Amino acid sequence: MLVLLIVVLSAALLWALLRLWRYTSALRRLQKAIFTKQPLLREDDPGTLGNSWDEVCDRTNELIEEVNHLQQLRSGQLAQFEATLGSLREAVLIVDGNNYILLANQALHEIFPQAVNILGQRLETVLHSAAFLGHVEAVRRGLSPPQQEIEFVDGSTTVWVEVAGTVIPPLDPARGTCALFVLHDVTRQKRLEVVRKEFVANVSHELRTPLSVIKGYVETLVDGNEGIAPEDRARFLLTIQRHTDRLNSILEDLLQLSRLESVTPGLKREPTDVAALVRGVVDDYRARAEKTGHPLSLDEEGGAALGRDVSADPLRVTQVLGNLLDNALKHTPRGARIDVSLRSLPDAIQVSVRDTGPGIPETDIPHVFERFYRVDKGRSRDTGGTGLGLSIVKHIVQLHGGRVWVESTLGSGSVFHFTLPRRGDGSGGGSGSGSAR
Ligand code: ADP
Repeated sequence: MLVLLIVVLSAALLWALLRLWRYTSALRRLQKAIFTKQPLLREDDPGTLGNSWDEVCDRTNELIEEVNHLQQLRSGQLAQFEATLGSLREAVLIVDGNNYILLANQALHEIFPQAVNILGQRLETVLHSAAFLGHVEAVRRGLSPPQQEIEFVDGSTTVWVEVAGTVIPPLDPARGTCALFVLHDVTRQKRLEVVRKEFVANVSHELRTPLSVIKGYVETLVDGNEGIAPEDRARFLLTIQRHTDRLNSILEDLLQLSRLESVTPGLKREPTDVAALVRGVVDDYRARAEKTGHPLSLDEEGGAALGRDVSADPLRVTQVLGNLLDNALKHTPRGARIDVSLRSLPDAIQVSVRDTGPGIPETDIPHVFERFYRVDKGRSRDTGGTGLGLSIVKHIVQLHGGRVWVESTLGSGSVFHFTLPRRGDGSGGGSGSGSAR
């Protein structure tokens, strides 16, 4: 009896152990299926573990398929999102709750070319701007203005950016609240604004001086009508005339500059014999140069090769050479030599005006073609200069597709060169220091 009991108990234990082993191995396979997200193959346990186990397996497989489907959907949506951001002209940046960069599109790299491989890096190590970090914080706390202009300085480069930011649901809950920023590069507008402000300030300054002189003398003449000696009256009127002429020159030069900078600068180009034109201008200046005691010469290198193959506006080219000759006469003392020379280059004709005057300091050379720039402000005004002559020269030459530049040594003199490209060539040739930009 006892033996029978032992046998029965052993058989039951064996059966239970066998069943336990089956469940354990089935559970292991189920676990593997969940981890690898691969559906459980039902042939492995063909109905040996009962209906409830079958139900667990079916439900698990359904869940695995659903998860796989959702993941595919998410990857597709992410790829679509990234492609959309990549094609945007606006720069987009997404950071997580700890300011680690999660996403940056191509437009952002265009604004900040130095910011390479920035994904996963902290914001402050990539974009150096305390103002931007402050803006990021303000966006997180819902305190930011809708748009803010922020300056980014990296070494010698300054970029102005208009930034708008918003908080977005976390892409990954473990990374905290994310924030998305749209950045728009406004550096060009900022620079133009600065140039415009400087220009208005310069024009006002230039006009104010002659105007206040004229006003002062006119008031004196009106107030002291009877008591002014005739010779004083004549002197006052001459001063008024001089300053009126000055106002006129400034306005004429300004009008001309604005015409040259407009979309229709009104160049009347025609096949031009530059050598003949230069000869004519130099002849026109001979009498003036003699009067001011400046020996003036013309050197034509390559004679016949100069030809008529330049398409130019003769009046404007005359003005370029005239302005350079005026400067050489104005800014050099009596006795300084002025030599005009013509050179034939393979693709252009080069005209140079050399003087043996005081020269231009090295630090001023890059600026002399800028509007209203003068090396010696007092002297320029005394000689009737507007500070716009070289700027007009630069515009005319560039409109012809040529180049203008200056070489100068303090104490020895200056040489201004300009080129006019031959027809069918827009490059202009030549090289040198102090080129007009
Ligand atoms: P400006 O009306 O004063 O002559 P420009 O634009 O023609 O104005 O010239 C700008 C400045 O460049 C001048 O004020 C002068 O200081 C300098 N400059 C131009 N030409 C010469 C030259 N040949 N020698 C020395 N300085 C010159």
